[in-house]
Amino acid sequence: MSDLKLIDRKSLYRRAIKQWGRQSQIEMIKEECIELALALQKLNRVGGRALSVERYHAVIDEIADVEIMIEQAHHLFDSDKIQEVKEYKIKRLQARLEVCKESDKEEG
Ligand SMILES: [Mg+2]
Repeated sequence: MSDLKLIDRKSLYRRAIKQWGRQSQIEMIKEECIELALALQKLNRVGGRALSVERYHAVIDEIADVEIMIEQAHHLFDSDKIQEVKEYKIKRLQARLEVCKESDKEEG
């Protein structure tokens, strides 16, 4: 995935939190999430091909920013709890899709 090993990223994130502080990094999470939302909002606006390529790359850029901040969020909030809730939600999604598959079979 990334050239920077997970262990290196963890220490990098800890340094960033120490350098700029917890509250500042929480603000950064909010800012990056808003930037991604705005980039996604612009993605489907009518425009030329060059513009849509540019907008697509803007989305990729913002996804990367959000992922970096979400990784930092694991150092700012209860990482084990995030993981636990995430696993619960993934299982719930899986169950919902199973229900869809069953109802598709009945209809088809
Ligand atoms: Mg950004």
